[in-house]
Amino acid sequence: MAVFTLERTKLYTNFCFFVCKMFEDERKNLVKKLKKELRIKTDRVEKAFLETPREKFVPDNVKNHAYVDTPLQIGNGQTISAPHMVAIMCEALDIKKGQKILEIGAGSGYHAAIVSKIVGEKGQVFTVERFENLAETAQKNLESIGITNVTVIVGDGSEGLQSFAPYDCIYVTCASPKIPPPLIEQIKDGGKLLIPVGKMICTLELIEKKGNEIKTTDLGGCAFVPLVGKHGF
Ligand code: SAH
Repeated sequence: MAVFTLERTKLYTNFCFFVCKMFEDERKNLVKKLKKELRIKTDRVEKAFLETPREKFVPDNVKNHAYVDTPLQIGNGQTISAPHMVAIMCEALDIKKGQKILEIGAGSGYHAAIVSKIVGEKGQVFTVERFENLAETAQKNLESIGITNVTVIVGDGSEGLQSFAPYDCIYVTCASPKIPPPLIEQIKDGGKLLIPVGKMICTLELIEKKGNEIKTTDLGGCAFVPLVGKHGF
């Protein structure tokens, strides 16, 4: 009996090792593809992608699609963003070690995990989610891979997060009808805001604040779930 249990434990350990290795290979292939497509451009973004297991941020029924470059359902009609979009957004913001970042739309917590790896231990990430159950899952997902520099908050992110402002960068992972004024107010002088503007099919806009000057750059078309709230839909 004891021998049988030992054999089963060994089999299970081998199986887990095999699955883990399979995901790791898929992750490396996805990173290779994103580099080839020039979505990942810098070493720090590449490293963050290699260190973040996307399979830990998606529900069990879609785990086998974790490394397909597409959004996936995470519940409440919401999605985890496609990896190429996460890469584009990280590169556009030029996020650096030690920065304080605000994300609007925690969803699964995956994008926040990538950003937390880029800012490193001395950096901080705050992420606001309107659905309590998604915020709880995001928190658990982040904890499951040992991330401690991300704070998940339940609330209306269209109003930003005044209590920890100002931020080096703010990015929004849902589409807004217009740029919410509190988000511009809550970035530092010299800071950046990245936000999809429009309904479903929208334009990714990069806003840079320098003194009283606001520069807006159109980074092209994209598709996101809606920002629902006071300054959203
Ligand atoms: N960054 C996420 C993608 C989430 S999809 C990830 O990596 O998985 C966008 C998320 O924005 C959804 O979870 C949605 O519930 C949330 N959202 C929409 N409007 C919001 C608002 N006003 N405040 C906070 N979160 C909002």
